[in-house]
Amino acid sequence: MIESNFRELAVAHRDEIISVRRHLHQYPELGFREQLTSAFVADALTRLGLSVRQGVAGTGVVALLETGRPGPCLAVRADMDALPLTEATGLPFASQHDGVMHACCHDGHMAMVLGAARMLTAAREELCGTVKFIFQPAEEMLGGARHMVEAGVLESPRVDGIVGLHLWPDLATGRFGVRPGTVMASMDHVDITVHGKAGHGAAPHQGVDAILAAAHVLAALQALVSRESDPAEPVVLSMGSIRGGSLPNIIADRVEIRGTVRAVSSEAREHMQRRIAALAEAVAGGLNARAEVAYELGYPPTVNDPGLIRRAEASLLNLFGQEAVAPLDRSPMTSEDMAFYMEQVPGAFLLVGAKGAGEGNYPLHHPQMTIDERALEYGAAFLAEFARDFLRTR
Ligand SMILES: [Zn+2]
Ligand SMILES: [Zn+2]
Repeated sequence: MIESNFRELAVAHRDEIISVRRHLHQYPELGFREQLTSAFVADALTRLGLSVRQGVAGTGVVALLETGRPGPCLAVRADMDALPLTEATGLPFASQHDGVMHACCHDGHMAMVLGAARMLTAAREELCGTVKFIFQPAEEMLGGARHMVEAGVLESPRVDGIVGLHLWPDLATGRFGVRPGTVMASMDHVDITVHGKAGHGAAPHQGVDAILAAAHVLAALQALVSRESDPAEPVVLSMGSIRGGSLPNIIADRVEIRGTVRAVSSEAREHMQRRIAALAEAVAGGLNARAEVAYELGYPPTVNDPGLIRRAEASLLNLFGQEAVAPLDRSPMTSEDMAFYMEQVPGAFLLVGAKGAGEGNYPLHHPQMTIDERALEYGAAFLAEFARDFLRTR
């Protein structure tokens, strides 16, 4: 059998992949409200002849490419939601939906997975087992992936491995950011309420100053990063909001501090969770105030399976040569709900370079963020190649 050349096929499908991305870019939708988007995706998958399920975890879409031959099941995942931003790129295909923009490239993720679905469907004779295409809602903050897992997308057939991509405007087009182990940080939220006792500013000894206690709590918490965390393993604690007090001459009885906590290992994450509460309570207590700490678990770290990353590298070498592999020396401190699948099954999550000559000047989530659309054909070719490797060699 002559094998499909996915690199050449992706180039041949370039215009279609780009037009899919541009269409989706024009009609972005927020998390769990991806009605038009999921209908478009389901229609494209149905036209390929795949069996398609809609309405999974709300707006999710799952499609199966069944070869009829026994073998493993590989899931290929894309996210569908956009961000509450007003686009300022000035592109001819800019968002038509006021205040909503695909500023995190999820339009491109869908276009790449649909491109791969098309190539793999045409090449089904070269595969055994099953490819499961997962289009999930609400990656941004809402954890759509967790809802998909709870809805059973990793079962029937049971998924043996999962692959996903994130377009990356910081990395040159044609290169893939690859990292065994942690590739995205965890993301949790912490709310600290410091309770004091109101009083007259002229008689501080009769009250308990929640503002002073909160200031000491804030400063002390950074010691968890600088003194208790392994310097070789990044941890971030950013307190982005503080509110309290009313007038300059009144002792405040209540201050609220809110922040985000990021770590690259579960151990560091658990350490921060435990110690933020203990330290805030102790410091506030030492000043006669009281701290109440609510720690909300967000996304776990996204941890690549070393074996699957070796296979991904082999697929990249095969397709594009050594140049395509860009080893990441550290994990970005951004996070991904892809982590929820990868807690359950081995996974590979790679970054796809999308920085062309004029692109990449703005980061993800920026209203002027643009990508080099040539990145899409690289991503689609990789997904198809990786799927064939996975479903052939296991
Ligand atoms: Zn994002
Ligand atoms: Zn994203």
